Amino acid sequence: MKYMDYAATTPPHPEVARTIADIMSLHYGNPSSLHILGEQSEQLLKKAREVCAGALQVRPAEIVFTSGATESNNAAIKGAALQFMNRGKHLITTEIEHPSVYECCKQLESLGWEVTYLPVDERGQVTPEQVCAAVRSDTVLVSVMHVNNEVGSIEPVEEIGRRLKQEHPRVLFHVDGVQGFGKVSLSLQDSGIDLYSLSAHKLRGPKGIGLLYIREGIKLLPLLAGGGQEAARRSGTENIPYIVGMAKALRLANEGQRELAERLRRLQAALIRGISDLPKLMLNSTPQGAPHIIHFSYPGMKAEAMLHMLEEEGFLVSTKSACSSKKSEPSRVLLAMGRSMEEASTGIRISLGEEHTEQDIEQFLAALRKAVARMEDLKGRG
Ligand code: PMP
Repeated sequence: MKYMDYAATTPPHPEVARTIADIMSLHYGNPSSLHILGEQSEQLLKKAREVCAGALQVRPAEIVFTSGATESNNAAIKGAALQFMNRGKHLITTEIEHPSVYECCKQLESLGWEVTYLPVDERGQVTPEQVCAAVRSDTVLVSVMHVNNEVGSIEPVEEIGRRLKQEHPRVLFHVDGVQGFGKVSLSLQDSGIDLYSLSAHKLRGPKGIGLLYIREGIKLLPLLAGGGQEAARRSGTENIPYIVGMAKALRLANEGQRELAERLRRLQAALIRGISDLPKLMLNSTPQGAPHIIHFSYPGMKAEAMLHMLEEEGFLVSTKSACSSKKSEPSRVLLAMGRSMEEASTGIRISLGEEHTEQDIEQFLAALRKAVARMEDLKGRG
């Protein structure tokens, strides 16, 4: 079986898995404990924070560990909304955000906040002009993802951040960086980004762990109140094995970014060529998008049937994104990009990673051609 669903999750790096197993059995102390085991855990936590900060080129005190990007996104958006509700109750985001941003905004709307959902163009992008034009005197936060998890479109977040800070310095800027980190370069320095979410399991780290970068000087209302861990920004006993595992995964992803991105770019180009040769398929990704995500629609066909045919041929891919693939509605992201209901209901996402080679892509394309021929044959027979 060839796993081609890296945007859903990635196979853990063997070094990361080993580190986690070792720490789990050896360093189980609570970092808040005053004895030697506690102290050892505290040291591991401190070191991991430094490694994560190094990978992001920010200060260690600006990193808050969370249970994953769903929590990071909620902590950033709700934390800012609640902290600054006396300043205003307006938020700006896009129509193509991950559910952990989109549904969080919907929840806030039901509680009295106003949210502007910016439309995207046919490639799935917003512009800095659109963002700035939507800002009002009561806007407290803008949230725009770096790379879209369904189609791989790259949003101009550095430009958005710089423009926003020039024109509206009081408005906070949050970026969901989950699908971009390790694939598309981004500098948190001088980019106007105040809050940035990451998840370890998209980077060959463990599931259930992530981080939120909070620029120095910004105070959010913590989602989780309790024992005051993470400098009172996120209470709860720290998950040392996973935090150390994530630090290792981030370091490895960071070190390998350029080489991986170049390799994935070549594989992406071959896939795009192969898919473009099949007239029944409609590409929703562009070569300008992130190098690991390729998405197409197959109007008139059930995406799930296609997925299982590809599975029979030995390839594991996705319909839409993992978080919404069990829902039967059309893709909100594709509808926002102007696709028809039919096109938005028949999407297939292929997402690549370190293990893939040119030969895998050739074999995948052969399987795809075969699956399309079978689907057409079935359709012909009515
Ligand atoms: N944002 C994006 C863009 C994602 O792709 C995901 C994972 N599907 C998340 C947020 C949520 O991350 P997690 O699984 O760590 O909660």
